[in-house]
Amino acid sequence: MPELLSAELQNLAQTCHTFATQVLLEQGDKPAAEARASVRAAAKRAGLFAMTQPQEFGGSAASQLALCVARESLAAHNPPYMDAVFGPSPGVLGSVTDPLKTSHLEPLLAGEKRGGFGFTEPDDAPKPTSGVIDGDSLIVTGQKSYVTGGADADFINTLVQVEERGASMVVIDTHLDGVHLEKKFTSLDGSHHAAFQFNGVRVPLHQVIGEPGKGLPKAMRQIGDTRLLIAAQASGYMLWVVDLLTTHLAAKDKSGEPRGNKDVVRLRYADLRIKAYAARSMLYRTARLADADENIVNEAMACKVFATEAVGELVDTGIQLVGGTALMEGHPLERLYRQVRAWRLAEGASDVLRLNIGRGILELGKGRI
Ligand SMILES: Cc1cc2nc3c(=O)[nH]c(=O)nc-3n(C[C@H](O)[C@H](O)[C@H](O)COP(=O)(O)OP(=O)(O)OC[C@H]3O[C@@H](n4cnc5c(N)ncnc54)[C@H](O)[C@@H]3O)c2cc1C
Repeated sequence: MPELLSAELQNLAQTCHTFATQVLLEQGDKPAAEARASVRAAAKRAGLFAMTQPQEFGGSAASQLALCVARESLAAHNPPYMDAVFGPSPGVLGSVTDPLKTSHLEPLLAGEKRGGFGFTEPDDAPKPTSGVIDGDSLIVTGQKSYVTGGADADFINTLVQVEERGASMVVIDTHLDGVHLEKKFTSLDGSHHAAFQFNGVRVPLHQVIGEPGKGLPKAMRQIGDTRLLIAAQASGYMLWVVDLLTTHLAAKDKSGEPRGNKDVVRLRYADLRIKAYAARSMLYRTARLADADENIVNEAMACKVFATEAVGELVDTGIQLVGGTALMEGHPLERLYRQVRAWRLAEGASDVLRLNIGRGILELGKGRI
């Protein structure tokens, strides 16, 4: 295997291939809630659910490389319900102590509470979401425009500019007075989101994660890990597209010749394989750096930009080579086209990440090639 995986990781990849074909692709027309519950139960039995959870909470705290192998191997089948395979991970709550540990982290990992992530703000917001310390409370005012799963969230890990302290991550319970769910919406990929207003919400000061003013690095670390996993899923989808096209091009077209005999088709196909190979190589190198405790902020951004743009190109060209049937509603390429488009914005717009990579090297001396 080109990734030189240990026997243990090769077994994990095999478990994921089996799981994708025997569980994810077998959910048929079940209602989504029922299918998700059945996937979750099977993922717990297969040991996949616990991979994203810390050992002290009964999880297996898998390495970044193992998580990448798992996500890529599942995605290589382009299956539905991948979001139900892995359990909730601590995210920015990772290092909290009591009372937040008992009130929010434990229920989150047990699936008893749901959390959202509030970072993005509307373009016309008069000023960033801000907080003023008042005794043992923080009074929060502002807006967040794109909280995934926000309508069902019990709390939102929210980026707040605390007066005289700076950017902080604050756990805001959605039932508090002054939290207003402004609207719910669905994006092209089918995921659900909500916009919120915070009108003088009084949050206990102990719900600021870490010290006030130290929030941004924690948020960025969480986003960095998520970016690498997006790249892993994108890499898996690329393997699926390449496989699909390999079969498609081997079949004969109307002239009786294999479709792949035409040079112009071969050139397109080769380009896609080159992109998939490059994205995969970046992914495995970066996951190994992460597991060696290297700072991978810049590399994770590079992986995410490259893999999400490459998978967009693969799916788009894949549709072009397969033809009109690939655009019929329900065709796996049509579904994938909608799914991967969101990634060039979610977790950081591609061009904004490019600027950050440039700044990381030119101004901060961070990142490697
Ligand atoms: C499926 C999905 C799920 C999401 N989930 C969440 C979530 O849970 N929580 C959350 O907080 N957000 C979430 N988002 C929002 C996402 O993080 C933002 O869409 C993204 O960060 C871009 O911000 P924006 O939409 O405000 O666009 P803008 O920031 O306005 O960017 C639009 C474009 O403007 C240009 N641009 C912007 N800033 C700069 C700059 N500094 N320099 C140069 N060019 C620039 C870029 O070309 C960029 O693509 C989600 C988005 C999607 C699509």
